[in-house]
Amino acid sequence: MRPTGKLHLGHWVGALSNWVNLQKKHHCFFMVADWHALMSEYRNPELVKNATFDNLVDWLSFGIDPEKSTIFRQSEVAEHLELFMILSVITPLGWLWRCPTFKEQIKQLKEKNINTYAFLGYPALQASDIALYKADCVPVGNDQLPHLELAREIVRRFNSFYKNKVLKEPKALLTKVPRLGGLDGRKMSKSYNNYIALDEEDQSLKKKVLGMFTDPARKRKSDPGNPKKCNVFSYYQIINPEREDDIKQWCHHAQKGCVECKKILLESIRAFIAPKREKKREILKDKKKIYDILKRGEDKARQVASLTLKEVKEAMQLIA
Ligand code: SF4
Repeated sequence: MRPTGKLHLGHWVGALSNWVNLQKKHHCFFMVADWHALMSEYRNPELVKNATFDNLVDWLSFGIDPEKSTIFRQSEVAEHLELFMILSVITPLGWLWRCPTFKEQIKQLKEKNINTYAFLGYPALQASDIALYKADCVPVGNDQLPHLELAREIVRRFNSFYKNKVLKEPKALLTKVPRLGGLDGRKMSKSYNNYIALDEEDQSLKKKVLGMFTDPARKRKSDPGNPKKCNVFSYYQIINPEREDDIKQWCHHAQKGCVECKKILLESIRAFIAPKREKKREILKDKKKIYDILKRGEDKARQVASLTLKEVKEAMQLIA
């Protein structure tokens, strides 16, 4: 996960909740990709540093378990950059230019001016992030499949040059995750300021939920509405699906107003967020413990990564 700001409910629904489940069956490596974040936030390194810490504490308070999984910061495991360099040497420029999101991201993040040497090489760093741990699989959504395919191609090319198949081709662990839109119906994003943070305080949560868009045809309480056209309802489907049928009934038959409907949703979100927010406060009281968790994770990640890197160099006959 790239630390570029606060984590929000969209991150929980789209990734974190899946990670928490994956820990039950797999040995997972969860990385705060601070080098990747720096590619778009190079003017604000402090933002990356603060978000790294804040995001990590969110992970812990939402159930990522350092006893089960390896948690680490990318920049603390130098092997990522070393393998990135090696993979850059064998990655044809054409593959990078053709990367589906390269041009799109440059346009979308125009004000950040990410038309840089490092950003072009982003897929090679991503391949290094995965290959260092000989990952069997990477949890991805459909939209990220082309990136994973590029990582697989880079690994294949490396193995074809240096014969003894040191690097493993990662498989996609395709996860169908629901998408939670922003408060205004667009993609939930910090830059649209339409998000609910994972540690949102009660007052601002209230303001945000009560201000959400509803079915525009429902102007008065007596007008019947259509939940399918309402953003509030789409939240119910994910946050509190047990209430879906009630809400449909009230809405279609104009039995309750939108304010009441939003108040119930507000309570559901609050009940979900508040205990984790408290847990985050507790965790933050003992910063040493957080750094100890990171140190343990980073030592472990480094151990695995350095072994792979050694095998890579041996395969290339860079070392005997
Ligand atoms: Fe949306 Fe609820 Fe209002 Fe229906 S009653 S339009 S679901 S907020």
